[in-house]
Amino acid sequence: MRLRSELIIFFLIISVVPLSAVVYISYEYSKLAIRESVMSNLLGATDNTGNVIDNWMDTRKDDIRVISQSRVSLTTEKENFKEFLGTFEREHRGVYREFYTLDLDGNIIFSNIYRTGNERTENYFIEASKGKISVSDVYKSNTTDAPEIIITNPVRKNGEIVGVFAARISLENLYRIIEQIDIGKSGEVFIVNQKGDIIFHENQSLILLNNINNNFAVREVTYEKNGINEYVSYKGENVLGSYYWLPLYRWGLIAEKNIDEAYAGALILGRVMVEISILAVMGVIFLALVVSSNITRPVKSLEEGALGMLSGNFKAIPVSSGNEIGRLTEIFNSTASELLDIRKKLEMKIDVANKDLEIKNKELTAANEELKKLDELKSDFLSLVSHELKTPLSSMKISAEYLESDANIVPADRKEILQIILRNIDRQTRLINDILDLSKIEAGKTELKLDIIGIRKIADASFENIKQVALKKDISIIIDVPDNLSPVMADMEKLIIVVNNLFENALKFTPAGGSIILSAKEDADGIEVNMKDTGIGIEKEKLEKIFDKFYQVDSSSRRKTGGCGLGLSISSGIIRAHGSIIQVESEPGKGSTFSFKLKKG
Ligand code: ADP
Repeated sequence: MRLRSELIIFFLIISVVPLSAVVYISYEYSKLAIRESVMSNLLGATDNTGNVIDNWMDTRKDDIRVISQSRVSLTTEKENFKEFLGTFEREHRGVYREFYTLDLDGNIIFSNIYRTGNERTENYFIEASKGKISVSDVYKSNTTDAPEIIITNPVRKNGEIVGVFAARISLENLYRIIEQIDIGKSGEVFIVNQKGDIIFHENQSLILLNNINNNFAVREVTYEKNGINEYVSYKGENVLGSYYWLPLYRWGLIAEKNIDEAYAGALILGRVMVEISILAVMGVIFLALVVSSNITRPVKSLEEGALGMLSGNFKAIPVSSGNEIGRLTEIFNSTASELLDIRKKLEMKIDVANKDLEIKNKELTAANEELKKLDELKSDFLSLVSHELKTPLSSMKISAEYLESDANIVPADRKEILQIILRNIDRQTRLINDILDLSKIEAGKTELKLDIIGIRKIADASFENIKQVALKKDISIIIDVPDNLSPVMADMEKLIIVVNNLFENALKFTPAGGSIILSAKEDADGIEVNMKDTGIGIEKEKLEKIFDKFYQVDSSSRRKTGGCGLGLSISSGIIRAHGSIIQVESEPGKGSTFSFKLKKG
């Protein structure tokens, strides 16, 4: 899992879990508090209303008691009594429907609405005639269909009960008071008698027609209890119901509220809590995102830097903060640049080592080539020796056999044959000397007999050696060596070998009619000697090789021109022993110039 996701999950766990717990607990507490407050409000309202009913009823009873004791005469109910009752009725606005008096036989002897009749069987009459103020059960008026009660009180004269005063009282006013209990839109408030009959309800059609004694509150109240509880109403709804027992009239006042409506506050609170929780969780997620991205950004930069380092593209990571991560970034940057330095140095060392290896490899290849060349030289040498030594030997053998076989050979022929033999011996001697000279030179064993000598002397000596051949070949020789040249420090014999050689080669490779110039000139460094001919010249790519042993540009030239490819090797060896080199410039068809420089003596 990526660091960022881990951080977000971590933040969520450490914040959301306790947050949810706090929200849940405070919700539960608040719900409880709301419930308690709803309950106590309802209970309070019911209690108050119960008291109001008591008061209202007490007032009615007091009214009846006072009137019956002070005004009623029973025998002669005067017009002014009727008037008084009319005024009293009006003052109490529709509370009193009728006032009447009964004799002890239950006959109505006076009624302000002129009603007649006998009520001796009625409980309220019996009770009152025995001396007790009495309240009847609730009944519905025959005329108005409204619930009514009758309150009766004994009428006394000189301390003796002489009759009963009764008042028919409409309960509508009382109901108006009851209706003020706040029971919400769907709630109900009603009064039941002890049998469980509804004696008050907003819906008049239920009054005295509906018995609901299976209702929890009704059961409780008819057991004369007060209280509040949650239960299923007679309608089958979940309600919060408060019940209040009015002992004097044996009535139960019940106020029921729909539970959902009652606890709507708690539901709203719950919803608000959930909304707050969601907002808080979103806030936490946002914070987690911000914090985690602040933490992971530098870590990610470090990761990218490390990857860059692996691929060799390291750029210093910007240090964004002064905290531990910032410090880590600084350390990473300096470590990375040190590592890159080391890497560069190593690369340079490897480069140098590679170049060394290349050079060594080239040297090895060159040495190998050299070895191959030496091998070839060895076989060349063997074939040369077999050819160069064998050929003159066989010619000498033939010549000698001829001399031996015939004693009569004329002296002239004999002389010629002997000259052939001698020429071959000379040739072989020269070859063997050349090989010996070369091997000495190569072994570094040539001992120079250094002397101060003039180049002119050497040029003259060499010219003497070759002038006959030049004449024969019709090649003009020019010696351009000034007399006043400074002398050089050299081995005279060896230098003559070199100049001879260069002369011989020039003669060999210059056709008849050509010319050879031997010149020398002096400068501050020494004396430079040049042998220039107008001969066949040498191709550029072969120039280097002509100083190799046994090398001849045209190998068939051996037969035509003599020589065995050792002259230039020997000459360059001698000049090298003098601390210089032979150089050559040549152009095929135009001629060649060999030159070397000697130090002044
Ligand atoms: P050699 O003359 O015995 O063959 P060298 O070592 O003296 O051997 O010369 C080697 C070769 O260099 C010759 O065989 C010839 O091909 C070439 N060479 C030397 N001097 C000249 C020259 N002056 N002009 C043209 N070719 C030359």
